[in-house]
Amino acid sequence: MYAMNFQNSASADDAATKLASAADGQLLAGGQTLLPTIKQRLAEPSDLISLAGAGLSGASLSGADVVIGAMTTHAEVAGDANVRSNAPAVASLAAGIGDPAVRHRGTIGGSIANNDPAADYPAAVLGLGATVRTNRREIAADDFFTGLFETALNTGEVITSVSFPQAERSAYAKFPNPASRYAMVGVFVAKTNDGVRVAVTGAGSDGVFRHAGLEAALSANFSADAVDGVDVSAEDLLSDMHGSAEYRANLIKVMAKRAVAAA
Ligand SMILES: Cc1cc2nc3c(=O)[nH]c(=O)nc-3n(C[C@H](O)[C@H](O)[C@H](O)COP(=O)(O)OP(=O)(O)OC[C@H]3O[C@@H](n4cnc5c(N)ncnc54)[C@H](O)[C@@H]3O)c2cc1C
Repeated sequence: MYAMNFQNSASADDAATKLASAADGQLLAGGQTLLPTIKQRLAEPSDLISLAGAGLSGASLSGADVVIGAMTTHAEVAGDANVRSNAPAVASLAAGIGDPAVRHRGTIGGSIANNDPAADYPAAVLGLGATVRTNRREIAADDFFTGLFETALNTGEVITSVSFPQAERSAYAKFPNPASRYAMVGVFVAKTNDGVRVAVTGAGSDGVFRHAGLEAALSANFSADAVDGVDVSAEDLLSDMHGSAEYRANLIKVMAKRAVAAA
């Protein structure tokens, strides 16, 4: 590890202030991505500003919406009564992330800030049309994920919570990489008052994306059979040592059918 300054923060605004005054500071959530990155010498921040004491943990209800604090761990989301009652697909998605060690340290804020193309949470945030709250503003899910490991967050902006609207029906199905449990392909489907949303993770060469063809077919007929008639193109899908673009295109249909059946 490099020598660096470690700073605690008492709130999101305090963290933002410390970030602004550091030469090259980075926020630290559970460290599940950031610490391995530093250990591999792919990052060398001057300051690590911990959010552990910033009061950003826990989930609550706001009307029927579930509001999850940025520092809430995956294990806490999976076990939370409010999440399980009003956003059960988010709870079961969280329960399927990584292994117990990752679930007890990794956070929803760190996951979506990092926007790994194979991460699970981006599919739930985009699939449910959630709202990301920061210390400065609210960002709609459709505007938040902007590319591989890229988001709409500005330098120094801190995610404080994510607000998930309640869906009539929703579910997430993923085909996990057997080593890491990251999604080879994961599909989140949600039937809401505004129509059907389908978000795909693990497969897009630009990260998580909505699939217009699946949304149209499922809006007309919300059944697993409706997925059969949808053309899922391999163009622009990821191709790597784990699977070709064509393999992932096929998995998108299989996971979409499983998600609709589960919903
Ligand atoms: C072995 C292993 C297996 C995994 N398997 C899966 C899996 O199956 N599915 C999956 O989805 N994920 C998986 N993960 C990722 C894991 O779930 C973490 O959520 C992810 O690594 C982010 O970690 P973290 O929350 O500890 O954030 P950190 O590593 O602390 O931070 C990550 C990045 O986000 C920034 N950041 C953190 N919090 C905020 C905030 N509130 N506002 C703004 N920026 C912030 C940090 O500055 C940093 O750049 C796995 C990780 C490991 C190590």
